Amino acid sequence: MLKTIEDLKGLKGKRVLVRVDFNVPQKAGVIRDDNRIRAALPTINYLVKEGARVILMSHLGKIKWKEPDLAKIEEMKKANDMAPVAARLGELVAPVKVGFCPETRGEKLVAAASELKDGEILVVQNTRYEKGEEKNDPELAKAWAALADVYVLDAFGSAHRAHASTVGVPSILKAEGKPVAEGYLMIKEVDNLTRCVEVAKEDRPYIAILGGFKVSDKIKVIDSLLKKCDKLIIGGAMAYTFKKALGEEIGNSPVQDDQLEYAKKCVEDAKAAGKEILLPCDSVVTDSFEPVEGRVIKVVEGNIPEGYQGVDIGPKTIEAYQKAIASARMIFWNGPMGVFEQDEFQAGTKAVCVAIKELEGKAFTVCGGGDSASAVKQFGFKESFSHVSTGGGASLEMIENDGHLPGVDVLR
Ligand code: ADP
Ligand code: MG
Repeated sequence: MLKTIEDLKGLKGKRVLVRVDFNVPQKAGVIRDDNRIRAALPTINYLVKEGARVILMSHLGKIKWKEPDLAKIEEMKKANDMAPVAARLGELVAPVKVGFCPETRGEKLVAAASELKDGEILVVQNTRYEKGEEKNDPELAKAWAALADVYVLDAFGSAHRAHASTVGVPSILKAEGKPVAEGYLMIKEVDNLTRCVEVAKEDRPYIAILGGFKVSDKIKVIDSLLKKCDKLIIGGAMAYTFKKALGEEIGNSPVQDDQLEYAKKCVEDAKAAGKEILLPCDSVVTDSFEPVEGRVIKVVEGNIPEGYQGVDIGPKTIEAYQKAIASARMIFWNGPMGVFEQDEFQAGTKAVCVAIKELEGKAFTVCGGGDSASAVKQFGFKESFSHVSTGGGASLEMIENDGHLPGVDVLR
């Protein structure tokens, strides 16, 4: 059984190291969207209320350590400084005191951690300032583990990575007999996504909707969902690989020729298992992906002519998909139905949102995946879903690995 923060007793005065996901979109210290900071507040507020001494660690952006020019590495570090995130957290939790340690190791950090008082918060500099973070370097994990009496993982979006701060530190603390647990965001994410892989009778029919760009990125997701679900709806660019595999002409649509055999086998296996795979019967096509003036945009049924590429599902497909979705008791959706970044090609993705909204109160509906989740938010449908995952890659890996993630497994 996973321990949750509410199972932890006697937190008053304890130094609790929390791995959060503060990887917010920002530029030069200006935070564009503080959702990820807000998502960690239930856990942070709980620990503060209990009188714990809270040490928060997260990565922010990327530091390319392969870069030979040291000056460039310093620039990348500066661009991903955690200080503005700590300041934003300070505003959100005021009047609770939030300190910031600009270093990831050494005397300053040790002093800052030991000077913390009950109910105070310390934000540590970006974990990726350390080259060893992504390599789960044992020395680094040891240094961080030495700061804490208790470890809490609340960084769902990073739980699929076995890094020093997500796996190294809790492994050490556990071996020392110290408590490790998951925070509220982790609990919510893990519970909701586990429901999509350990399917209960009352959640059937279970319909999976897959779209997005590449079949090859999603092979493990497709395999897993095909085993679990009752019906699979396919849209997005990946639909054209499936259509070509079934002998249709797809014009200049994006296709992965090295995945044709795989796609064909999927369809055959699904059929043999009595499961339906729905593919688009019509498409919105264009002669130019780039939004140039005078480009042709039209709807094509069946074969797509040379010179045109499919960029969204067409109106007949929308009707068929909406009808199928209406019969579901559970939905897992990953991958937009079309190039939703362009206004002209949003209809398919929006239509899926509308169909899922119709299921409110009747079905359990989950959206996972970076672009899918941002489409749902952009179109204003976030509240219509039972759960929209905050973790892009992590939510897909939960599905792929039957509910297992390195960061979750180490806590068990
Ligand atoms: P997610 O991040 O939700 O897992 P993906 O990264 O797999 O989704 O796919 C998202 C991308 O797929 C979007 O940028 C979208 O524009 C693109 N896409 C969807 N349909 C098409 C299409 N028909 N042609 C080209 N790109 C497409
Ligand atoms: Mg994506």
